[in-house]
Amino acid sequence: MKEIKCTIIQDVLPLYIDGVVSPDTKEMVDEHLKHCEKCQKELESMKQELYLPVENKDSLLKSFSKKWRNKKIMIALGSILGTAILLFGAFSYVFYYEKVIPYSEDLIKIEAPNNQQLVLHYFGKSYAGVHETHPMSLEIDGEKKNVSFIFYTQTIAHSPTRNLLDDDGQNEHNYISVLPESEKIDAVYYAGFDVEDISFGKDSWDDILERADLIWERE
Ligand SMILES: [Zn+2]
Repeated sequence: MKEIKCTIIQDVLPLYIDGVVSPDTKEMVDEHLKHCEKCQKELESMKQELYLPVENKDSLLKSFSKKWRNKKIMIALGSILGTAILLFGAFSYVFYYEKVIPYSEDLIKIEAPNNQQLVLHYFGKSYAGVHETHPMSLEIDGEKKNVSFIFYTQTIAHSPTRNLLDDDGQNEHNYISVLPESEKIDAVYYAGFDVEDISFGKDSWDDILERADLIWERE
């Protein structure tokens, strides 16, 4: 086997100590440590830094250990934030370029061809987007129900792709989509909402429920 560089081994040592490396990596490190005194020493000193009780560490070791613990936490937070920002971005975009199509019985219908699927029909000319939530448990008239919210949007600005998709409006349209986790849904409500507002406490699912139209309910 090709000799692995000490720097590579030392890079993975913190993970190795935490026991979060793959079996292959563990084997590689074990193998290397058998022959390499330098890395053995490095391992021992890292273990001490990470596992000594806080009060026994001098300030330098403390800050080293803290720095790298924080780094791990920051990476985790970073990826959560990244996802959240992407979501916010998408919804801000929606509310900048699109507006909610008001509910009308003729335009939007839900059918339950079987108990497993709720099929959403849109009979309008076209729409820019359909927004659906997964079912969430909300209290309605003192009863817990699994509720999904939906709304359709139309574009405010005309985009070239949208114009290509649009036709002259002569044809009958029936756009169909199936609601996520249909089998769990007790009721479907129609209302425009902005996930960003909910995240910042400016809106809540209970408030949205108040202003929403009930469009389907399980018998
Ligand atoms: Zn080494």
